[in-house]
Amino acid sequence: MNISQFHVRVFGRYQRVLADITYRRVVKMNNRIPFISFTFDDFPRSALYTGGDILFRYGLRGTYYASLGLMNTDGPTGNIFVPDDIEKLLAQGHELGCHTFAHCHSWDTKPKTFESSILKNKLILSTLVPDADLSSFSYPISVPRPSIKRIAGKYFNSCRCGGQTYNAKAVDLNYLKAFFLEKSRDDIQTIKKLIDETCLNNGWLIFATHDISKKPTPYGCLPQFFEEVVRYSQDSNARILPVGKALEEILLKTNT
Ligand SMILES: [Zn+2]
Repeated sequence: MNISQFHVRVFGRYQRVLADITYRRVVKMNNRIPFISFTFDDFPRSALYTGGDILFRYGLRGTYYASLGLMNTDGPTGNIFVPDDIEKLLAQGHELGCHTFAHCHSWDTKPKTFESSILKNKLILSTLVPDADLSSFSYPISVPRPSIKRIAGKYFNSCRCGGQTYNAKAVDLNYLKAFFLEKSRDDIQTIKKLIDETCLNNGWLIFATHDISKKPTPYGCLPQFFEEVVRYSQDSNARILPVGKALEEILLKTNT
């Protein structure tokens, strides 16, 4: 490792620690059964038409974190959703979440700009789907700097990040842990072990990814891989729900 790689690594660790320990909104998890959620960042069309169809076939629903500023564009995660896709997503019972309007970097963006982008996403969505509600959020690109974590926490029931692990015992609603599937897309065993561990510890495992495609971008997965994860999750004793609904059940005093 050269000196600049060392600096990048140390700074990355500093960012993660700071994001973890500041502006926490910790609640106790009351669930007596494990939970799994499937989430997609950016809402590429393939996440709905391929990933969503796989979930739907298993009787499951996911959470799609959308930046309305990316609508109708082609991005690093593939073709992004068009307005009609929002209608289809909601009609199928999936959850629409917020990812800021402009897909703002969660560390480098000025807090005021970040906050405006959250509000703009809500506003533009309300012009497309008047009764839509965005109660779940995921941080774009990076772990949040503390001031951004504080702002996001004001507007949403939950804010999801990464961390490649599951939530257990207590959860920071401003910093839900998630596991990005594409980082282990050649290693299904790691994922199966994580599902087993989540079930053993009555945790909440939130999977995240972007596109689901036969030619996935570096940020996505193959359909057969994704389906294997869905099938293994379905065969576990976990309850599988979109983030908003899972959170409601996890926080209930008496859940099954
Ligand atoms: Zn994103």
